[in-house]
Amino acid sequence: MTHSTTIYALSSAAGRAGVSVIRISGPEAKSFLQQCTEKKDFLPRQATLTAIIDPQSRETLDQAIIIFFPAPHSFTGEDVVELHVHGSLAVIQDVLQTLSNLQNYHLAAAGEFSKRAFHNNKMDLTEIEGLADLIESETSLQRRQALQQMSGQLRQLYEEWRHKIIRILALTEAQIDFIDEELPDDLLGLIFKDIADIQQQIQNHLNDDHKGERLRSGFHIALIGPPNAGKSSLLNILAKRDIAIVSPYEGTTRDLLEAHLDIAGYPVIFVDTAGIRETSNPIEKEGIKRSIERAEQADIVMRLVEATHIKTPHDIPSPKKKNEWIIINKTDVKPLSITTIPPHTWCISAATGAGIQNLICGIKDELNLNYNPSHGYITRTRYRTSLENCLQNLSEIYSEQDIELIAENLRLACRALDQIMGKVRVDDLLDVIFKEFCIGK
Ligand code: GDP
Repeated sequence: MTHSTTIYALSSAAGRAGVSVIRISGPEAKSFLQQCTEKKDFLPRQATLTAIIDPQSRETLDQAIIIFFPAPHSFTGEDVVELHVHGSLAVIQDVLQTLSNLQNYHLAAAGEFSKRAFHNNKMDLTEIEGLADLIESETSLQRRQALQQMSGQLRQLYEEWRHKIIRILALTEAQIDFIDEELPDDLLGLIFKDIADIQQQIQNHLNDDHKGERLRSGFHIALIGPPNAGKSSLLNILAKRDIAIVSPYEGTTRDLLEAHLDIAGYPVIFVDTAGIRETSNPIEKEGIKRSIERAEQADIVMRLVEATHIKTPHDIPSPKKKNEWIIINKTDVKPLSITTIPPHTWCISAATGAGIQNLICGIKDELNLNYNPSHGYITRTRYRTSLENCLQNLSEIYSEQDIELIAENLRLACRALDQIMGKVRVDDLLDVIFKEFCIGK
């Protein structure tokens, strides 16, 4: 798709910096080089140091490094010019002002560079969304997942299934043309076997326990337990700063407090919940209701109990769910006299920090156990929905006797995969996706 306008925007973060990057893309990108610089020749993809000049006043605005990426070998697939200017507010403002005066130049909307890259088949939608995630990534594993997706890990997988389905479709369609003739006896068997293989692979991909989505949004750990057990203190020591109000009075945490931490590259969100107890106070009641809801959705629930309440091993509560850990706190007040600690049970002191490092290692091990960083996990609900639709279309084939209806279901299954990659018209979806981007991307 060719765009008639040329777009420009500051691609680096706004504000003062050593260097800032302004990007131009479109049919008139080259005219900037001719009108606003002293040089006449720019070698493709090579850095050139030159002055940027206002074509009207002939004033030099900055000395900059300029790189010209002729189409199609650029991010957008169009002619692209990158200006690496000094990152002062005045330079940026004056260069952008000069660009706005050039004919057919428009300030880019959010995500417009990426949208052009998509329209010019430089990237499919999964790769574009990987790029959006890469920009948003805050921990190394989020970066790694996003980079893999941006480099085509999911696209290749979905393309592979798509090609397999198209092969079966071609076989099926060939039979439609010879419908009056004898069909090979084993044709349906052959089709069903191939479809079953693809179904199995898609199902395995779907059975990922939402790991990719959780890595994107963060793993949640809810701290629950009676008032005064030390939930806020644990949150504070984990976050190494005072997030929660620690007080010896019961019922101080009336809402949910969160600490976003990076544990060995995993984004982990600790949620301190209001102390769960009987109360008539409506605000506290609401806090308790939210705690319970949050704990139900959390990846790990840490139930805190006070060491002073543990006299014999029988006093240690048993986890109520598979993902529940028992945290015996305040071991500085009363060291435990028990020698064997049950599994999923940790002894700590949120006051002295004893046992905290062990607990962090435990969290890391648990996440490592469940997450394979090189695996291509599903990262968005929309992929999941389309993959489920694809499976549904494939499974309907078994009940069909009519070869034309089998072909139609194969086409629909293919379409579901195409939707993920943006190969079919998905205009309303595009608006939502590209709005996620900042201007200049
Ligand atoms: P929460 O209601 O569960 O959030 O409990 P807090 O974190 O507010 O702690 C209640 C009280 O217990 C405060 O006075 C804390 O200083 C104290 N506390 C918390 N953890 C420990 C600990 O490990 N040892 C001791 N000695 N006191 C603690």
